[in-house]
Amino acid sequence: MTTIMTHAAVGLAIGHAWQPARRGRRFWMACALLPAVADADVVGFRFGIAYGDMLGHRGLSHSLLFAALLGLATAWSMGWWEKRDWRDTGHLALLFFVVAASHGPMDMLTNGGLGIALFAPFDHHRLFWDWRPILVSPIGLEKFLSPWGLAVLRDELLYFGPPTALLLAVTVMRRRIARRA
Ligand SMILES: [Zn+2]
Repeated sequence: MTTIMTHAAVGLAIGHAWQPARRGRRFWMACALLPAVADADVVGFRFGIAYGDMLGHRGLSHSLLFAALLGLATAWSMGWWEKRDWRDTGHLALLFFVVAASHGPMDMLTNGGLGIALFAPFDHHRLFWDWRPILVSPIGLEKFLSPWGLAVLRDELLYFGPPTALLLAVTVMRRRIARRA
């Protein structure tokens, strides 16, 4: 896995870049939390679900289909709660899908564990990118609070930090230019 903090930072940056209008607290909470939901699958270990199973870690929960359903459900419930029209809810669903789906391709850059079942349940192959520069994060807080955890944060900062900061900077500049025009 990649750490929750990094997934949240990337989700917030995507939300910030894409938001069509001013959004409230619920929107930002969704952008921060949705990319991390996939890793809730680690509870499966407690119930005897093997890593390599479709319901195991990095299985169905890391797929594009799961991200699409999660995005749709979140946008629908937010749309219902905030009484948004269907067009805005559809737009939010697409945005939340992209935010949630950022998880799998990020994990595919890590150098350990099994790959990601990105196309489950249609294709069970576990996938990685050819280039995997990021040290995989340990599972469990105890192991994370160690030199291993620090090395993971260093790698994530090094590889996810610059593109995330660039996305934020470009968005801020783009908005400033649009405001002046
Ligand atoms: Zn993961």
